[in-house]
Amino acid sequence: MEFNTPVTIALSKGRIYKQSLPLLEYAGIVPRDDPETSRKLILETSQRNVKLVIIRATDVPTYVQYGAADLGVAGKDVLLEHGGGGLYEPLDLRIARCRMMVAGVPGANLEADRLRVATKYVRTAQSYFAAQGKQVEIIKLYGSMELAPLVGLADLIVDLVESGNTLKANGLVPLQHICDISSRLIVNKAAWKMKHLVVSGLLEAFREAAQSS
Ligand code: ATP
Ligand code: MG
Repeated sequence: MEFNTPVTIALSKGRIYKQSLPLLEYAGIVPRDDPETSRKLILETSQRNVKLVIIRATDVPTYVQYGAADLGVAGKDVLLEHGGGGLYEPLDLRIARCRMMVAGVPGANLEADRLRVATKYVRTAQSYFAAQGKQVEIIKLYGSMELAPLVGLADLIVDLVESGNTLKANGLVPLQHICDISSRLIVNKAAWKMKHLVVSGLLEAFREAAQSS
């Protein structure tokens, strides 16, 4: 496809960047630098008009919402926490797949009242337990949730699980499946109108690439 209009795509380092590369390449976009080794936050690409901004996963919806990036790739987990305001979410890219789970020590009593739940996913956890009519106290953490039940900080955690190996290595088990997670293409609402040709072209290219993988 042709890129007649400048377009900026927001991505996070790590698995999302790696798994987005084949999708970008399908659309004719090849980054000029590798964010894992370069310190650059803005990457030029094989397309003069296409730039990538490399930011924290949780910041991707914010950049797209405010139009600092026209498009982005964000995990559904991150979008659920962000709330999705100010952006469109037109496509499930089916990359970076995992599951949002409740986990704890084997035999943890999920029916105890006033359970303490440690998580980075406060909104998701709150609405999950509220929907179950359970009173829980949410403790916000920024990482290493698996530690919380081991040191008595919480009874349960809500976290992403892929293989379950991290839980297992810490003596924890998955207890309840909250939802499946994958990464989504997100689009700034103004860019969707003002840059419609290039944005819809990218959307269709990513749709084809996601289907064929
Ligand atoms: P950081 O690790 O820098 O604190 P992060 O955890 O948000 O940030 P990643 O670990 O790269 O960054 O996760 C980015 C996205 O990938 C998550 O938002 C989620 O959608 C997805 N993801 C996270 N963990 C897994 C996993 N174990 N398997 C598959 N996808 C995952
Ligand atoms: Mg991580």
